[in-house]
Amino acid sequence: MYWDEGIETLSREKLERTQETLLAEHIALAYDKSDYYREAFDKAGVKPSDFKQLSDISKFPFTNKYIERERQLKKPLLGDMIAVSEEEVVFVSASSGSTGVPTLSPFTKKDFEEFQDVQSRLFWAAGMRPTDRYVHALNFTLFVGGPDVIGAQNLGALCIWAGAIPSDRLLFILKEFQPNVIWTTPSYASYLGETAKKQGIDPAHELAINKIIVAGEPGGSIPATRKAIEELWDAKVYDFYGISDIFGACAGMCSERNGLHLAEDHILVEVINPDTLQPVAEGERGEIVLTTLRKTARPMIRFRTGDIGTVNKDKCACGRTHARINIMGRLDDMLIVSGVNIFPSDIEFVIRNMEELSGEYRIIAFTENFTTKFRVEVERALDNNEDKETIAEKVSANIKMRLGVKPKEVVVLENGELPRATHKAKRLIDERK
Ligand SMILES: [Zn+2]
Repeated sequence: MYWDEGIETLSREKLERTQETLLAEHIALAYDKSDYYREAFDKAGVKPSDFKQLSDISKFPFTNKYIERERQLKKPLLGDMIAVSEEEVVFVSASSGSTGVPTLSPFTKKDFEEFQDVQSRLFWAAGMRPTDRYVHALNFTLFVGGPDVIGAQNLGALCIWAGAIPSDRLLFILKEFQPNVIWTTPSYASYLGETAKKQGIDPAHELAINKIIVAGEPGGSIPATRKAIEELWDAKVYDFYGISDIFGACAGMCSERNGLHLAEDHILVEVINPDTLQPVAEGERGEIVLTTLRKTARPMIRFRTGDIGTVNKDKCACGRTHARINIMGRLDDMLIVSGVNIFPSDIEFVIRNMEELSGEYRIIAFTENFTTKFRVEVERALDNNEDKETIAEKVSANIKMRLGVKPKEVVVLENGELPRATHKAKRLIDERK
């Protein structure tokens, strides 16, 4: 039933005492070993000794992606949030950079082993067993989800390290090796199933897949999306949640599939009102804030994830006591397309660097097959006589080069056709709701 019964079913009271002990040590480590945390705590007027019980976490300052990036640039390679010497770091992942500079997430040997133990736990909770054949179809290049396959291997499953390969090759693996578990994004699960059908393979009957783990997009927790994928594959879909700043996966669905169990012996979760920065009432929606409890390479104290969600601390019907989270989406107007984070500023970066264009642009986000797509509208520069199709292709290629994903469409207009804003331009038109 459980990978680690003692930990996973610990009473809430004991779990919180464990968190308290771990966090007291972790805060002291951050203050002693990390220049950033010493500076941030001093500035906020708090000391490690001010932490006596869990609620005292609210005295400590928040951190976020921008601070993380800034502190990394300040002291390359790993920045000054780290609490160990580089010599002790054995692995780094890099997040899909949204402003051009990827942020690195460092792990010591112990951090990495614990990370993989958490992955084994989440896989087990999602029903993976040593008898399973598992195909890991996530990107291995810099992506924190790449090494998660080791967690499946340590669990005892037969693991196929597919990575991000062309769908023809992946379908070949699914057909020839008949694995029954796969991990991918929700949109790719749909795409792959449809591609199989086009090739005359019925994914529901001719392939053995009966379990699909998804992450990277909210789809896995959206019932309509999940149902469509499940019908296509005749499989059950399990949603996982991770952030590269901490672990590949920090939380995952159990057999109940009613929220994602967070590894609370490694991560403390808070939910705050992003405007007041005060905690919301239990069960209410707010910004998810995570604090590492054991990751020594780089402690993350009160990391504002920018994700909006809810937390449920009631004991689950599966017997696990660890809190369940549900993520609704992003705080800002960031788009998640095929698992890649896209900010309007990324598009702007591309547009403004092309002299073929006027520099004006709009992004229209919409939903197609339950997943987010976007269209970009640009204007041809006044002195440019190139045909619109060529310009559109260039814009699309440049966006793909910078972000790793292509817009569904690029519409090239004449100079002056887009509305001009006098104060604040509305760059993102969200047609998803
Ligand atoms: Zn459960």
